[in-house]
Amino acid sequence: MQSIDKKHQLAINGGPKAVDKEFPWPIFDAQDVDAVTAIVQSGKWGNPDCGDEVARFENDFAAYCGSKYAISCVNGSVSLRLALIACGIKPGDEVIVPPYTFITTASSVIECNCVPVFADIDPDSYNISPAAIEAAITTRTKAIIAVHFGGLACDMDAIQDIAKRYGLRVIEDAAHAHGASYKGKKLGSIGDIGSFSLQSSKNLTAGEGGIVVTDDEKLYAMMRSLRNVGRIEGGQWYDHYNPGCNYRITQMQAALLSQQLTRLEAQTQKRNDNGLYLNQLLKDINGVTPLERGAAITMHCYHIYIFKYDSDAFGGLPKNDFAAILAAEGVPCFKGYPHPLYQQPLFQNKNFMCYAIPDHVDYSNVHCSVAEQACETDAVWILQHAMLGEKEDMEAFANAILKIQEAVV
Ligand SMILES: *Cc1c(COP(=O)(O)O)cnc(C)c1O
Repeated sequence: MQSIDKKHQLAINGGPKAVDKEFPWPIFDAQDVDAVTAIVQSGKWGNPDCGDEVARFENDFAAYCGSKYAISCVNGSVSLRLALIACGIKPGDEVIVPPYTFITTASSVIECNCVPVFADIDPDSYNISPAAIEAAITTRTKAIIAVHFGGLACDMDAIQDIAKRYGLRVIEDAAHAHGASYKGKKLGSIGDIGSFSLQSSKNLTAGEGGIVVTDDEKLYAMMRSLRNVGRIEGGQWYDHYNPGCNYRITQMQAALLSQQLTRLEAQTQKRNDNGLYLNQLLKDINGVTPLERGAAITMHCYHIYIFKYDSDAFGGLPKNDFAAILAAEGVPCFKGYPHPLYQQPLFQNKNFMCYAIPDHVDYSNVHCSVAEQACETDAVWILQHAMLGEKEDMEAFANAILKIQEAVV
């Protein structure tokens, strides 16, 4: 780290923090505790043979998303796997994915014996670029996984149009996007299947969990079967029709999720409003640029509030140092992913174990320049629980950035 003038009293040098406040997550009250306690006391903990908390949560979540069906499962990685298998992909098929996302968006494709093909992100939204998708399509392409990164909707009109023209399935990885919308439609409900994570960092959580939504009855039946060890509706307990596993959640998780779901809309609205306000505040600071949200973004849930950092406006201070200094100032923030996914050892070394990935697949010369720049120099993340703060907190975040700028320039 370069030398920084101590008279400005940055928190990292022992000065007072710009933001001296905790931003709690998860948020719960006595009703959450009572809901879980009631399940524990009932002795009906499992799924699907006893109790109906899981079905209740699934119905409520499907209705919330405006989808016909929802199937819960153990996490937001398995939910992608259920979606991919239900879409009928076969070994060696290609699935187009962005490189700027969590590993399982791409590794779930490997686990299905298929080939993730990386299409670069758009520099203004950090979402998969429709032009890059179209350029990546081959005769082997079967599906696109569109990640609504940070909770900002992908260009779904363009992606759905490409999918229609080439006969591809669209899976929305909405792990960041509970409650967010595109042209008034809830994310996850637009493509063939929407996949959500309910892991502890996500905007709707029971510690762990995942859920898929769809309007297609056949996809629904298959994902339900895969989630339940290949059993089918009306079949015998020990009759197994499909290559599934036990991916079921517990009744305790579902009871907690039903409670958490009652808060989701208000929390999403609050993050959305805080994000709009912070965008306005950052406009006045040289060297920090929030991602663009176009008119199609009718609700942004800011699982991650992302801004682009320009070190030239901060005396050459590298992004990773800036993010560490900002975090020390009390802003819940992070430098983000260190590398685009294709640079991970999993892909570079092709550690695919027994999976049937063709020999010609080679990630050593994949380059997505926008994703690389986002990782290395540009992207700074403020985390969702901080976006549940008050307006004054957004002002304090902006002031913390200014404090650093004044200290280093
Ligand atoms: C968190 C996440 C997942 C995986 O969810 P888990 O519940 O942790 O398995 C998938 N995709 C994205 C974009 C995520 O952020």
